[in-house]
Amino acid sequence: MRVHQMSVSDAIASLRSHPSGLTSADAALRLLEYGPNKVGSVAGEPMALRFAKEFTSNFSLILWFAAALALFAQWRAPGQGMLKIAVAIIVVIVVSGLFSFWQEYRVERALAALQALLPQQANVLRENRVARLPAEQLVPGDVILLGQGDNVPADCRLVEAFGLCVQNAAITGESRPKPLDAGPSTALEPIQSTNIVFAGTSIVAGDGRAVVFATGVRTEFGRITHLVQTAGGEVSPLRKEIAHLSRLTAILAVLIGSIFCALGWVTGIAFWQAVMFGIGIIVAMVPEGLLPTLTLALVLATQRMAKRNVLIRYLPAVEALGSTTVICTDKTGTLTQNRMAVREVLLGARLLADVAQLSRTPGLVDLYRPFFCIGLMCHDLKETQIAGVQQWLGDPMEIALVEMAQAVAPDTAFDPLLDKVPFDTDRMRMSTVHRTSGGIAIYVKGAPEAVVTRCDRRLVDGKVEPLDAGNMKQIAEVQERMAHRGLRVLAFAYRQEAAACEREHIEEHLVFAGLVGLEDPPRPEVPAAIRRCREAGIRVIMITGDHPLTAAAIAREIGLTRSDSPKLITGDELRALTPSQLQLALDAEDIIFARAAADQKMQIVETLKRKKQIVAVTGDGVNDGPALRCAHIGIAMGVAGTDVAKGAADMVLLDDNFAAIVDAVEEGRAVYANIRKFLTYVLVHNVAELVPYIAFVLLRVPLALTPIQALSIDMSTDALTALGLGVERPDPGVMRQPPRLQTERLMNRALALRSYLFLGLIEAAIAMAAFFFVLHRGGWAHGAVFPISSPLYLRATTACLSAIVAMQVVNVFLCRSETKSVLTTGLFGNRLLGWGVVTEIGLLLLINYTPWVNELLGTRGIDTQTWLFLAPCGAFMLVLEETRKVIVRRARAKA
Ligand code: ATP
Repeated sequence: MRVHQMSVSDAIASLRSHPSGLTSADAALRLLEYGPNKVGSVAGEPMALRFAKEFTSNFSLILWFAAALALFAQWRAPGQGMLKIAVAIIVVIVVSGLFSFWQEYRVERALAALQALLPQQANVLRENRVARLPAEQLVPGDVILLGQGDNVPADCRLVEAFGLCVQNAAITGESRPKPLDAGPSTALEPIQSTNIVFAGTSIVAGDGRAVVFATGVRTEFGRITHLVQTAGGEVSPLRKEIAHLSRLTAILAVLIGSIFCALGWVTGIAFWQAVMFGIGIIVAMVPEGLLPTLTLALVLATQRMAKRNVLIRYLPAVEALGSTTVICTDKTGTLTQNRMAVREVLLGARLLADVAQLSRTPGLVDLYRPFFCIGLMCHDLKETQIAGVQQWLGDPMEIALVEMAQAVAPDTAFDPLLDKVPFDTDRMRMSTVHRTSGGIAIYVKGAPEAVVTRCDRRLVDGKVEPLDAGNMKQIAEVQERMAHRGLRVLAFAYRQEAAACEREHIEEHLVFAGLVGLEDPPRPEVPAAIRRCREAGIRVIMITGDHPLTAAAIAREIGLTRSDSPKLITGDELRALTPSQLQLALDAEDIIFARAAADQKMQIVETLKRKKQIVAVTGDGVNDGPALRCAHIGIAMGVAGTDVAKGAADMVLLDDNFAAIVDAVEEGRAVYANIRKFLTYVLVHNVAELVPYIAFVLLRVPLALTPIQALSIDMSTDALTALGLGVERPDPGVMRQPPRLQTERLMNRALALRSYLFLGLIEAAIAMAAFFFVLHRGGWAHGAVFPISSPLYLRATTACLSAIVAMQVVNVFLCRSETKSVLTTGLFGNRLLGWGVVTEIGLLLLINYTPWVNELLGTRGIDTQTWLFLAPCGAFMLVLEETRKVIVRRARAKA
C-alpha cells in the first residue's frame, strides 16, 4: 500500500515516525543517511558559451573589426608597425572580455550570497515541540506544520488539515487551488490523491500538519526539476538603454573612422597612415567599460542595500527603484511595529482601560468566560520552547490576545480543537471549533463588520440577551472611538451547541462577546522616512485591511496625511468606482485605502501604472502575489511575509520596515547618478582622444596620439577611476530631487554638452597644447615632417598622452557631481576612486619613465618643463568647471 492510501496512523508508522515528530537524534541520523533536503539548480548556459559571448559584444565586435583592419594594413604595407597595433587591440579585447566575465561571475556569486540570507524555513515538530528550521534539514518522517502562504518544503502526507488548499502549478501546471484533506485516498497515484502535498507547491488557504515522505532529489519536484529560473532573462530598461547607447557609439565610431580614413587617403595621406587613423578614431570612440561598470554598480548597490536590510532578488529592481514615483504600503508591521498590546476592552456595557483593569475587576472572568476562551483558543499560533521558555510563534496580535487571556483568566482550560476556518483577509475573521464538557463550542474573532453582523445575541454580565439595533449602534460607536485613537479593533463572538453543525454554518447565530482595541505603535523611523519621500517627490499611499478610522489615525500620526480630512476609500467604495473614477480619485493629495481586499491592491497598482507612475508595492499574503508581480517593484516582508509573497517579489525587506524602502530608493537613484558620472568621465577622454585625429586630417599637423596610446588610456590608466565613479555613495541631495522622468535618457542634452563640448574640448585643447609645446621647444615648424620614431615626436605624443591622463585625474573629481563644487564633494570618501587615482598616477609615471613601456606604447619620458606646463592647465580646467557649476547652481536656484 502506498503512503496516500494508508490511514493517518499507518502512514506515520510506515515512516517510523510519531504524531509528536521525530527526536532530534533520529532526525540527525536520517539527515546523514538521506542528505540535505535540496534540489540542485538547473544548469544554466554552459560556461564556455557564456565566456565566448563576452568576446562578441558590440564593443568587442568593433574592436575585432579594428584589429582586422590593422592586420589588413600590415599585409598591404608591412613594416609600418600595424602588427603591433593589431596585437594591442586583440589584447584589449581579451582583457576586457575576461574582466566582463569575471564581473558576471561576481554578480552571480553576490546574488547567490544574498539569497542565502533568506533561506526557506519550515515549522517542524520535533519531540512535540515546534522548531523553525531551515527546510534543508528536513528528513523523511519529520512532521511539519503548514499554513497559508507557505511553500511546501518536501513531499508530505497530510495528517491533519483545516480548510487546506494547495496550488500545484509548479508540478502539474494546474493553477486552480486544490482542496485537500487528511483521510486515506483510493487514488492509484499520489498526484491524484487529496492528501499529498508536493515540494515546490504552495498553500493558498487553511492550515494543517503533514509527515514528510520524500526529500531533496527524491521529491516529485526533484525528479522533474521543473525549476523555472525566473527573473533573469528579462532585459532591464537601463541595460537596454546602455545597449542602445553602445550600438549608437559603435555605428558612429565605425562611420566616422571610415569617413576620416577615406578622407585622409583621398587627400594624399599614405594608405597605412589613413588606416591607422581610422582605427584610432574607432578605438577612441568606444567606451569599453560601460556595461561591466553598470553591472558592478548594481551589484555593489545590492550589497549596500543588504546592509540596510533590503534583499534584492532581481537586479534590475535596483534601477526601477531609482525612478519610483509612488510607494503603496501596508500599514501593519510596515509603518507600525506590529507589537500589539491590548489597550481597551468592551464587555457588555463595561469599557475597561487595559489588561490590568480587567484583572482588577472582581468576578469579571466568570461573567465573561467565553470572551477569554476566544482569546485563548481562537488563533493560528504555534507553541514552542525557546531556550527552555515556552513561547508562541505567529501573529503578534494573536499573541497579545492569548497573553491577555492567560493573564486575566489563568484557570481557563484548553478545549480540544476539532476544526478550524482559518483567517483570510477577504473574510476578515476566523473560527475554531472545540469539544467542551457540554458539547461543542465555536469561537470566532475578526473585524467587527465581519463578526457583529453574524450575531443575534450578546453576552451581558453572564447572561445571554438578544442583540438589537440599539446595541449594534452602541458597539459601532465604541469601535469608532477606539479606531479614532488608532487602535485596531476586533470583535469576539461564540456559540455553544450540543452537537457539531455543518462547517458552512458555524459562523451563524453567534453571541457577541466583546470588543478588543489593540495598540500597534508606528515605527519611530517612519515619520522621517515619509518626510524624505515627500522631499524626493515620491507619493506614499497606505493600502490597509484595517478600519478606515484606525488607518487615518495612524496616517496622521506618522505625517502621511497633512489635511484634516484625507480622502478615505474603503474596499466597498472602491468596488463601486469605475476605472476612470478611480484614476481621478488617485489625484487627491492625501488618499488612504482601508478595508481593502488583496485583489483591490492590484487594481490600485494597475490604475497608478495607467497614470504613468512607477509603482512600488508592499505585500505579505498569498493574495498579494498578483499585485507584487504587477507593480514595477514588488516588495515582500521578510518577517511577516509568506513564502508565496517572497517568491513573487523583486525585493524583500528583511525587517519589514518601511524606512528601508526609502533607503533602497536612494541607492537606486545613486546607481543611475553614478552611471552618468561614469559616462561623463569616459566621454571626456574619448573627445580628447578623437581630436588629435581630426586635427591630423583637417589641419595637416602630426598625429598627436597613436591608437595604442589611446587604447592605453581606455584600458589601463582610466579603468579603475571610472569604476570608482560607478560606485560612489549616494549624494545626500539625491533625495531632494523629484523622481527621474520615464522619458529622460541616460545621455541627455546636458550630459552630452558637458562631456563632449565643454570638458572634452578643454581636455583636448590642453592635450594638443602639450603636444605642440614639446614640438615647438624641439624646433618643429608647421609643415615639417619627421619619422615616427624620432625622439622629438615620441616625446610630443607622450606629452599629449600624459596631458590627457593628468587631466583625467583632475576630471575624476570634477565628475563626482554635476553641480556641486569639488570643495563640497571633497577628494576622499571613495576608496576605489582613491586607489584609481593612485594607480592612474603610477601608470602615468610608468608610461613616461620605464623603457619597456616606452617601447610598447611608443613613448619617451617628458621633462620637468612639460610637467610645469601641465600643472596650471589642470588648475585651468578646474576653474572653468567650477565656474560652470556656479552658473548652473545660480540658474537652478532662480528657477
Ligand atoms: P495591513 O493590510 O496594513 O497589514 P491589516 O493587517 O489590518 O492591515 P488584514 O490582515 O487584511 O489587514 O486584516 C484585516 C482585518 O481583519 C483587521 O483589521 C482585523 O480586524 C481582522 N484580522 C486581522 N487578523 C486577524 C486574525 N488573525 N483573526 C481574526 N481577525 C483578524
